[in-house]
Amino acid sequence: MTSPIADPERAAHAARLDALATRLKEEIRTTLLRVDADRYALLAGQMVRDTKDQAIAQTVLETGVAEIERDARELADVEQARQRLAAGRYGRCVECDTVIPEARLEAWPTAKRCRPCQAQHEQRRRG
Ligand SMILES: [Zn+2]
Repeated sequence: MTSPIADPERAAHAARLDALATRLKEEIRTTLLRVDADRYALLAGQMVRDTKDQAIAQTVLETGVAEIERDARELADVEQARQRLAAGRYGRCVECDTVIPEARLEAWPTAKRCRPCQAQHEQRRRG
């Protein structure tokens, strides 16, 4: 079976995810430095080097700073989206396998559900 996403699109998706990851890491780094320069200087320094995004996400989640946690979760989502892209499943809803519209992916590159499934998912989470 061929991938539903043509290669130029795949490259565009990969570039978009890379750009998002870069922005998130920069935000995390800036926040780390602002929150507590001494405590997190080492961590912020590590982020400049080529550490795996997933590892960064795990580490910064332990800082307990809400703003950073939000960015770290999004960074972990980016990593998952990259894995879906590599597996040829990016751009398809993880629940119903519907193709997610390009406009939605553009606005939300880490989207893993179509709009109806996402709405249901959020409703379930709200209980
Ligand atoms: Zn769906």
